Amino acid sequence: MSVVEETTLSRLGRRARHGLRLATTPSLWREQIEYLRHGPSPSAAPPPTTAFPSSPWRPIPPGTGSYCNLCGWEGGAFGGPRHVEFQLCPRCGSSARDRFSFFCFTARTPRTRWLRVIETSPRLGDAYRAAMAHWFTYTATDYDQSSHRGTVRLDLQDIDLPTGSVDVLLTAHVLEHVPHTGRALDGIARTLAPGGRMYLQVPVQDGATIEPPAPEFHQDNTKVFWRFGFDLADRLRRHGFTTAVLVTEPMVDAVRTGDPTALGGDGSEWDLPAMLAAAKGAGLVSVLDQADAERLGLWHSYQFATFECRAAAGSRRDEAAVRVRRAWRRIR
Ligand SMILES: [Zn+2]
Repeated sequence: MSVVEETTLSRLGRRARHGLRLATTPSLWREQIEYLRHGPSPSAAPPPTTAFPSSPWRPIPPGTGSYCNLCGWEGGAFGGPRHVEFQLCPRCGSSARDRFSFFCFTARTPRTRWLRVIETSPRLGDAYRAAMAHWFTYTATDYDQSSHRGTVRLDLQDIDLPTGSVDVLLTAHVLEHVPHTGRALDGIARTLAPGGRMYLQVPVQDGATIEPPAPEFHQDNTKVFWRFGFDLADRLRRHGFTTAVLVTEPMVDAVRTGDPTALGGDGSEWDLPAMLAAAKGAGLVSVLDQADAERLGLWHSYQFATFECRAAAGSRRDEAAVRVRRAWRRIR
């Protein structure tokens, strides 16, 4: 018998003893029902930091103050200017766009146990990553292992992951640094499980996608190959994704009326008339009204867009196979 088989068998034995204990201890039953419905219970495996709550699936609580949907912080105001890259949470450091991405993901993805989540170059550090690993089967990846180091190196143009192995891909402000967009999207489509999702953020400041007229680098010195516009939505659809552009309510209203003045802000970094014209056919979906957006520190609607890309749902047989594989991974 090999070492691997012994390890698997001993794990199975441990699981069986644990299961027997749960089945014969009535005081644990309620907790187990919650676990089966919503994933790990608060007492099953506490996250290593108390800065994050035990579950990611939480509605925005009633109230009027600022609220961080990542760590659950509530208070007077986020830090810094009312800008997509700022409004930092005093507890977890999340920026406005971090919170919008996380909101889109958790509000739109059906609650599923053992969700396999991959995030490219997460901006936030160890406490956030530990919380994500507590909530999901989570892997942080990075391309050059420089500014936002991940645990796995991943090149979006040449994804070294098994077909259908990812339930949710979170990728924010990475695709604009990839020269061959089409190759990356083909790889992502292959890697997502049937019905899997990508929540994609890129800076959208123009109407149509262009190459930067002059060499452009973001703060961490990575080159920008593309300045995307709302035409990215059609491109994503051509790669087989069911795509919705998730925004906050004022943006949908402004696209309908064609009036950028209703959006507020100075908008100097954004070409608002071109954006509104291009957004008309892009398939915008409002996911937050302005009051809730402001609670999350998302002040200017035109600064926030998340492309939701869903892979084609599989047959019932595919879905069952995915569930069996997940369960097997859990047992091992
Ligand atoms: Zn926070």
